[in-house]
Amino acid sequence: MSDSAASGTIAFLGLGHMGGPMAANLIKAGHSVLGYDPVPAAVEAAKAHGIPMAASAAEAVAGAAVVLTMLPSGQHVLDAYRGGNGAPGLLSVAGPDTMFLDCSTINVDEAREAAAIAVEAGHRSVDAPVSGGVVGAEAGTLTFMVGALPEDFETVKPILERMGKRIVHCGDHGAGQAAKVCNNMILGVSMIAVSEAFVLGEKLGLTHQALFDVAANASGQCWALTTNCPVPGPVPTSPANRDYQPGFAGALMAKDLRLALNALESTGVAAQMGPLASRIYDEFAAGDGAGRDFSGIITDIRDKSAT
Ligand code: NAD
Repeated sequence: MSDSAASGTIAFLGLGHMGGPMAANLIKAGHSVLGYDPVPAAVEAAKAHGIPMAASAAEAVAGAAVVLTMLPSGQHVLDAYRGGNGAPGLLSVAGPDTMFLDCSTINVDEAREAAAIAVEAGHRSVDAPVSGGVVGAEAGTLTFMVGALPEDFETVKPILERMGKRIVHCGDHGAGQAAKVCNNMILGVSMIAVSEAFVLGEKLGLTHQALFDVAANASGQCWALTTNCPVPGPVPTSPANRDYQPGFAGALMAKDLRLALNALESTGVAAQMGPLASRIYDEFAAGDGAGRDFSGIITDIRDKSAT
């Protein structure tokens, strides 16, 4: 692949909640995109947004300069790269020196493995998970956390800029996933801490506004409090004001904390808060929290508290 990757065809695999609008933004910006998704509803939605669709992943990838994946998990990415169950591996279908650009959120170790097998097959590899959710995907305002060799970062940057507004080069292969998992571990832990503090404040007779006015301007200040405040009122745009409609769904927070837990275990970090947050969000997501904003954890804490 020459570094005209930005002008070659982009095979876009995985046109779900995130991939659909991201691919639509690439098309709007004038890129040639050929999509593939095995789910008929996703195919119809993509076509309705003007995204040309291939009948198979192999058809989309043959002749593409870039293979962009936006899939549910690392296993999906590795299976697609390697092939199996009658489907050819995309690494063998792609032309030499193709850019494999994975934007899914997956384990750091899986991202490094994906990069290793892509490079071994004669290709280039970048991990570029996102934050910003469906709203950011639609508006083209995602943040991309990128793990790539410096020259590969320069190649993918103009493509990512069509879908996002902040593109951060975090280091070599796997560094994008590492940054994402560390950030989301902070977010999960801090949301639990903020929620526990509001429930404690309620028990102690504090109004939500009083606690907010103090903590938002003091050392308790954090995104979970000042942007995604788990109680209605102080931040009118936070999901708490619309009965915890996401936002960032509990199922996704539970997934990201499991990835953090895996990374903590594989690196041997003596962490306690991360694993605990993972357990708390697994429980939340096992119930109706899966589809609610992750700040809805406050209702679990309140419900389980003494009356
Ligand atoms: P989704 O389930 O809506 O979309 C995934 C799509 O991949 C589905 O349409 C599925 O049919 C398709 N797919 C599965 N296997 C495939 C294959 N082999 N080839 C092609 N397509 C295949 O998920 P999503 O919400 O769009 O999330 C995608 C990724 O982005 C996940 O890794 C998620 O963790 C991450 N993410 C999601 C959000 C969010 O708010 N939804 C935010 C940040 C990151």
